[in-house]
Amino acid sequence: MMLKFWGARGSIPTPDPECMRYGGDTSCLEVRTSNERLLILDAGTGIRRLGIDLEEKAQGKPITADIFITHGHWDHIQGFPFFRPAYKAGNQFTFYGLFKVDGRVEESMKGLMGQLYFPVSMDNMASELVFKDILEGEKDVEGVRVSTCVVNHPQGAVAYRIEHGGTAIVYCPDTEHGDQLQPKLIELSREAEYLIHDAHYSPEEYPMYRGWGHSTYREAIGVAKAAGVQNLVLFHHAPEHHDKFLDELLDRARQEWPHTIAATRDLVVKTRSTDTALRQKAISDAQRSADFSWFVPQGYSVQRAGEDLHVLCPPSRTVLASNSFQEDILRELVPPVKKLIMDFTLVDRLNSVCLGVLGRILASCQKKEIRLVFVNVNEYLLEILKVTRFSEVATIETKTTGSTSPGASTSTILGQRRS
Ligand SMILES: [Zn+2]
Ligand SMILES: [Zn+2]
Repeated sequence: MMLKFWGARGSIPTPDPECMRYGGDTSCLEVRTSNERLLILDAGTGIRRLGIDLEEKAQGKPITADIFITHGHWDHIQGFPFFRPAYKAGNQFTFYGLFKVDGRVEESMKGLMGQLYFPVSMDNMASELVFKDILEGEKDVEGVRVSTCVVNHPQGAVAYRIEHGGTAIVYCPDTEHGDQLQPKLIELSREAEYLIHDAHYSPEEYPMYRGWGHSTYREAIGVAKAAGVQNLVLFHHAPEHHDKFLDELLDRARQEWPHTIAATRDLVVKTRSTDTALRQKAISDAQRSADFSWFVPQGYSVQRAGEDLHVLCPPSRTVLASNSFQEDILRELVPPVKKLIMDFTLVDRLNSVCLGVLGRILASCQKKEIRLVFVNVNEYLLEILKVTRFSEVATIETKTTGSTSPGASTSTILGQRRS
């Protein structure tokens, strides 16, 4: 599965250059499965940009998607009136939801476009819209297994588990645990590859907002650990939290559990897959390129924010040395990107094949006049990078060490790009 985070906010922050990396759009997640199904989790404001992207890619061909709504709070539905593909005949969207208070998913979505709020009613959208209420439990949606459970949140909300190709992701954008982690959510999250969990407040803010229905990264980590989850994605960021503050929260979370990332604007995450079709493709790819990266968790992310391209490098050397990792980066080295930031937080060691890949990325950066920055490099890697002369052309920042206060920077900046 491929996941793209079109919106990761709990509500909209004021447009601010300090909020660009985590973005300003509210909950919306695109999920692509290997059997070409498109699932959309929530219809917050992020769905507007998703709609534009879908139309560009479809080139006039019909668009079909299943849209799973967690609950009817504004930040999870308010983007739908601005979702362009819904206005085009031939497109088809099926809504799924379990609404405890508002009644049915159809009433809730249609209410959003009632006369008081919007000039066009949902009945006048040209696409075919289907509404299906779901119950707690499991369901097969055209080859994709979807399980749900009700979680604690004002007026109720559901969490979804999406399983396909031998792996699972769990999406729980809004919930508060209180004194005890919710057993049902732990069960739903059991051994998922990615848990996307509410981390709205900082631990210091939370006591003031008890009962408001949200979590901190601590409960998110608690669920991830209890359920044996592989990776945690912090989600539903408070609108007051600027990029720098969210980076600090992420650093603190990683100190408690390193397998944690935070959803930034347009973050793309790929799951591993044991799906038969993908396995066959992997075998033929592997025969061509001796690249077996398909068989291990990918564990990296490539995300663009303005002129910066951020890459969280994978802990696995096999993945770091793979063609797919290299290609995922090279593909993004296009305008307006002016700086490539490679984060080595999860990387302990490098081998010669990895260095070859880094060398090709460096060459491409030099050709395109893109500045290359390695960050969170450990001492071992630093020595290698010095010996291999990367330090002469790239900026290298070592892991912050000895700082207990989050965000305090004691980074060493080793090299600067010439010119
Ligand atoms: Zn919300
Ligand atoms: Zn909510």
